[in-house]
Amino acid sequence: MPLKVSNPATGATIATLPSDDAKSVTAKYERARASQPAWARMPLKQRLAAIARFRELVVADSERLAKILSKEVGKPIAQARNELKGVLPRIDFFLDATAKALRPQRVSKTNEPMEERISHEPLGVVANISAWNYPWFVGANVFVPALLAGNSVLYKPSEFAAMTGLEIARLLHAAGIPEGVFTAVIGDGKVGSALLAQPVDGVFFTGSVATGKRIAAAVAGRMIKLQLELGGKDPIYVCEDVDIAKAAAGIADGAFYNTGQSCCSVERIYVHRRAFRPFVDAFVAEVRRFRRGDPAEDSTYIGPLTRAPQLAVLEAQVKDAVKKGAKVLVGGKRIKAKGNWFEPTVLVGVDHSMAVMRDESFGPIIGIMEAKDDAEAVRLMNDTAYGLTAGVYTLDRRRAERILAQVASGSVYWNCCDRVSPRLPWSGVGDSGIGLTLSTYGIETFTRPKAWHLRSLGSDSN
Ligand code: NAD
Repeated sequence: MPLKVSNPATGATIATLPSDDAKSVTAKYERARASQPAWARMPLKQRLAAIARFRELVVADSERLAKILSKEVGKPIAQARNELKGVLPRIDFFLDATAKALRPQRVSKTNEPMEERISHEPLGVVANISAWNYPWFVGANVFVPALLAGNSVLYKPSEFAAMTGLEIARLLHAAGIPEGVFTAVIGDGKVGSALLAQPVDGVFFTGSVATGKRIAAAVAGRMIKLQLELGGKDPIYVCEDVDIAKAAAGIADGAFYNTGQSCCSVERIYVHRRAFRPFVDAFVAEVRRFRRGDPAEDSTYIGPLTRAPQLAVLEAQVKDAVKKGAKVLVGGKRIKAKGNWFEPTVLVGVDHSMAVMRDESFGPIIGIMEAKDDAEAVRLMNDTAYGLTAGVYTLDRRRAERILAQVASGSVYWNCCDRVSPRLPWSGVGDSGIGLTLSTYGIETFTRPKAWHLRSLGSDSN
């Protein structure tokens, strides 16, 4: 079945793409398997040069690529441009760090007769099943280091970001990466399942918890590497000593950027009781200033939701919260127009019995709750099935570090939020997933360490 791509801002069909099926996926897998050994044997320098050329091609074509991204996922164009720009430091990090991360390590002392060494072997053929919300970021976090480490990659972009996925494949091939070494697999979850049915050596998934659990079940019993980068319900705690206006502006951006569709969007806000009222007022004022509109316009900040079914999820969260006593201060409804539009929404009077404070919203909606002190804030932040990121806003660094040390979360932030660094590992606790990307750990993860025990008998031939 061909894949219909529609513009989330208007609902109009913008492309119809040929989709893969079980037979074509098998053929792609076989080609990936056949191509991998030569790719792995190639000196790392040549693989690095290919990725450096890919980077140049992305830069040269970035405005067109940003427009494609904006059209197919509804991302405001300024934010699409930011994503194209933001992927470059990630590629640069991998270009800089890979040689050192993959260098074989001698771990024995030089005067010992038994030499012990660790080398980093590629996994082989890996499946990269990806999300639509930041296809350049979450894609590159996986396929760039996977390719540099000598793997073949079968890359399944989300069906909601397939045009971008095809552009990524085109540019990697133009940069000299053989077609069998990087292959785009196009289609929906069924095609994803067909990909998992292949005897791949690793599965690297970015997406929802529900799909992550299905994938874990599908590969259970196979001795292959599995990474799952899943959702979050990321909290921020605002202490009473902050500059309220600045904190509100930073946190509102962290909650509503990309129309709230980031894995590390701020999804819950706790405010120290002494700052609660002024913070809420400043936050609501920020949200009212956001410009919602045509994603193609430079000044648009809030766009449509990428996926129509999420509208009903947000509506249900608002309804559930209001029924249990919450108050909508701004927004609260879907917008009656073509496309998938929801008003930026702020709720107060919320508590943890409500879905809006428990389940990932993945949209422009946030609940703000009072905390009586730091201990209560820590308890509330940890009262979640997730653990992707968490942050504290305070002037007191020691206080922030004390609080953040008690929070179970892959990443923690002091006076910032919704932030990813290529130099730091990106990982989650609990339902936020297993494994990691980025940092030097995110290079090693695409390899299998091989242990060498080399004993010289003194009469070696060389
Ligand atoms: P999704 O789970 O709906 O889909 C992700 C991918 O899985 C898509 O390519 C889809 O086609 C594929 N898929 C669906 N069913 C499958 C199956 N049975 N077998 C194999 N593949 C299947 O997620 P989404 O809507 O694309 O992404 C949004 C989610 O991703 C959010 O929960 C968000 O928090 C999360 N996310 C996490 C990170 C992170 O780094 N932790 C980054 C971005 C997004």
